[in-house]
Amino acid sequence: GPANTGVGSWPARRARISPHRTALVQADRTLTYAELAQRVERLAGTLARLGVRPGDRVAYLGVNDISVFETLFATASCGAIFVPLNYRLSGTEISYMLEDCGATLLVHSADAAELVASAGPLPRVLRTEDFDAESSGEPPSPAVTLDDPCLLLYTSGTTGKPKAAVLTHGNLTWNTVNQLAHFDVLSTDRALCIAPLFHCVGLGQITLPTLFKGGSVEPVAKFDPGAILARIAEARITTFSAVPTMLQMMCQDPAWKTTDVSSLTCVLYGGSPVQERVARAWLDRGVRLLQGYGMTEASPGVSMSTHDGTPDHPVSAGVPHFFTDVAGLSDERITPLGAEPAELLVRGPNVFSGYWNRPQETQAGFTGEWFRSGDVVRSDDGWIHVVDRVKDLIISGGENVYPAEVEAVAVQLDEVETCAVVGVPDERWGEVGVAYVVVRAELTEAALRDHLAANLARYKVPKHVVFVESLPRNATGKVRRVELRTRAAATFAQKGFD
Ligand code: ATP
Repeated sequence: GPANTGVGSWPARRARISPHRTALVQADRTLTYAELAQRVERLAGTLARLGVRPGDRVAYLGVNDISVFETLFATASCGAIFVPLNYRLSGTEISYMLEDCGATLLVHSADAAELVASAGPLPRVLRTEDFDAESSGEPPSPAVTLDDPCLLLYTSGTTGKPKAAVLTHGNLTWNTVNQLAHFDVLSTDRALCIAPLFHCVGLGQITLPTLFKGGSVEPVAKFDPGAILARIAEARITTFSAVPTMLQMMCQDPAWKTTDVSSLTCVLYGGSPVQERVARAWLDRGVRLLQGYGMTEASPGVSMSTHDGTPDHPVSAGVPHFFTDVAGLSDERITPLGAEPAELLVRGPNVFSGYWNRPQETQAGFTGEWFRSGDVVRSDDGWIHVVDRVKDLIISGGENVYPAEVEAVAVQLDEVETCAVVGVPDERWGEVGVAYVVVRAELTEAALRDHLAANLARYKVPKHVVFVESLPRNATGKVRRVELRTRAAATFAQKGFD
């Protein structure tokens, strides 16, 4: 057949090199690369029989599972586009996405059945438990190049309507090459896949690189810190990729101190800022901890810390990936990154070229060949520090306040578990900060204020403090700031001024 260098060809290519190595593990089930290649070929035949053609979109709903990988590779080998959706969304949100991407087929596992029933109208549906029973057609063999789209990933949608980044086979391949160049991924690796696979951290940071290299991947359906620690010890897991809240929950688990984590050679995390004390907890256990910084639009890796540099830069987002370039945008001028905060620009073969059906957002996302990350960063000695997102910036009395800076100071107090600061309109200052604080031990507002005032300029200290039980978070552990902003506005905005 014609050439297919796409991601869909990976299982068959890997099966030529290491057919008997384990590709995927789940409960008592394992698939070697040869078995995976065979199942992918069969499923591709099934998808084709159900009408999937090159360029079509195949949506997926379900927790992390071997079927996610089978569907991804089978869809890609049909030359079609895989669209994994967030199973924690509502039926209405799912319907919006199914319609937005114009899915031809929706594949789902049993755990998503209820959600699927509440979404509608639906395209044709294939249940994962029917993969083996469903009759298969001739496996298709379309030409697939690195420039063809492979994956649509909806960004978390922390602002506005969710939009899907179109990632090509080339984007994903180059991201994989970048990761391999940055740290050691081995064919002997056993990776736990705990971050959700509908998100770029789950898919791109360690999972695809491990499968590319011939290691084994174990998808985990549900994040349970104690169970994951137990599994690390039992299966001698060597690596996993997580979001910071997961690392935090693991090192606060009662089993943390007694679990043998010595098999871990490298733990990756990213997606939001990490608290220094959480990073230290892992480093103190002798675990090599690497922070990745990235975004869906970059497949996702932009930068990552390094084995050698991390002890000196425990909370830095590291240095740019091998084939990826970064620069700063300051007053609409492109400059090298430096000590002054600037919006980070990124370009490289892992960077997407647009959103699905969103020409205006796509155009607004780029300055020439550079993608505008929307993140303010600074760099010291080439090491990147994420200051905050442009859109989270609070402008109070004409001064810039980065919520992340205030939050980092607040969590220095042992009593503070976590904290989020958002802006609220204010008659006098334009905007003021509201701090939502979760404590783990008794703390008075006065004590918190004293600590903030001692470490921050006056205008940065939030005007209002609210103690809460927990912060609203999305599936990847990001604080849902839009929700907090709405809450803050409802509570404080109309209360007048002093
Ligand atoms: P939306 O664009 O819909 O609001 P989103 O930006 O959350 O969603 P993602 O692609 O999931 O979409 O997240 C990328 C963002 O996550 C980055 O732009 C950055 O703000 C943040 N981020 C990623 N890695 C890090 C990190 N290591 N440190 C701090 N922030 C990070």
